[in-house]
Amino acid sequence: MKNPPAWSLVVHGGCGQLSPETLPGPEAECRAGLSAALAAGKAVLSDGGSAVDAVVAAVSVLEDHPLFNAGRGAVFTAEGRTELDAAVMDGASRKAGAVAGVTRTRNPVQLARAVMQRSPHVLLARDGADVFALEQGLPQVEPGWFRVESRWQALQMMKAAAARGEELFDADLKYGTVGAVARDAHGHLAAATSTGGLTGKRWGRIGDSPLIGAGTLADDRSVALSCTGSGEGFIRAGVGHEMGALVRLAGLSPAQAAERALADVNALGGTGGIIFIGSDGMPGWVFSTPGMFRGRATACDEDQVAIWGSEG
Ligand code: ASP
Repeated sequence: MKNPPAWSLVVHGGCGQLSPETLPGPEAECRAGLSAALAAGKAVLSDGGSAVDAVVAAVSVLEDHPLFNAGRGAVFTAEGRTELDAAVMDGASRKAGAVAGVTRTRNPVQLARAVMQRSPHVLLARDGADVFALEQGLPQVEPGWFRVESRWQALQMMKAAAARGEELFDADLKYGTVGAVARDAHGHLAAATSTGGLTGKRWGRIGDSPLIGAGTLADDRSVALSCTGSGEGFIRAGVGHEMGALVRLAGLSPAQAAERALADVNALGGTGGIIFIGSDGMPGWVFSTPGMFRGRATACDEDQVAIWGSEG
């Protein structure tokens, strides 16, 4: 890409040990889901809308899509529940909102935006977050709305493995967290991430996705980013803050900073991927897994949707 685009958008639908046999559904449907998310975000951006509204629109589509591990189609906890995490950050004001462990709010990313825009807080958790959603008039659903059979079967397989004395959290993680980053025509950045977390998670485990400065960050001075992968590694490496600091203080490009931050996660034993857009609007992604569900759109290029490492 030669010139910085007027607006740009990148989405992801998670990464992992992906192969044609282990996709969460037909490949064409996975790609169509990413395209639909791009379309929703593009509609906002091409109309002069804000980066915040664009990333929330894109992530809402992926939350409603049953093939991705966020909202409908999220993984199950060890107790067979769906506990959802999400975050949004506005790069212009550096205001942020996030929720962890919500169980009844249909679109956690919209709740995260409400926390950012209509509360004095950054992070709300569990029942209290759902109460806030109700007060804000956001759509509430029965837990069954989130359930898809393949995710339920994944939990049963994991439990069967545990009964045989094998590790409950398998090493062959197939992440499916979703996220979006955007730069709008006014030059502002935003980022959003949403996830069900990890299959079989216990004890109220929360990953990097709803943690500002770990799995999600947007700062007009540097970069907007959304992560997916082994959340504990991304938290320990402080990926969001690290990337922002490398760009803002050390003068690295967002791509260089992403490579460096992901290498740090890898050094801690984690794997995953990062989508990002710099303050100049240049979009990018990096990942250290065989595949990552991803797509990007700009004001001046053809949309691109990809899954495998061998694609651009
Ligand atoms: N990073 C997420 C978490 O740890 C998982 C994922 O990316 O799929 O909750």
